Amino acid sequence: MHEYSAALSIVEAAVHAAKANNVKRVTAVNVEVGEFTFLIPEQLEFNFEIASKNTLLEGAKLNITLVKGRLKCNDCGYEGESQAALDLPPQIAVFAPMRCPKCDSSNTILTGGKDFIIANIEAEVNAS
Ligand SMILES: [Zn+2]
Repeated sequence: MHEYSAALSIVEAAVHAAKANNVKRVTAVNVEVGEFTFLIPEQLEFNFEIASKNTLLEGAKLNITLVKGRLKCNDCGYEGESQAALDLPPQIAVFAPMRCPKCDSSNTILTGGKDFIIANIEAEVNAS
């Protein structure tokens, strides 16, 4: 279960950050999810709910922002948003070399959109 392990690592990182900041209850976790993680937002939210049970995050909302993939061209140096091959499903396209939108070279690498990060955490902090 791809989404469950992702949700679990988000929960673990957020709990760690919350404890370090004397937080009593986390109300929301904002994450940025790369296009090429192939995480399904609805599945991620659902698994986050399960993974956050009995933690500081229980009941917290997971806000997901999708981030476009980034591509770097080794030939002309172009770097920017990747253009997914329209005739391929993205799950396959990610393994095929992507063409540079500038010079059409396939000597490219993906430099972004392959992972997810916690952008920030909204929480209630202990007064004392
Ligand atoms: Zn190029």
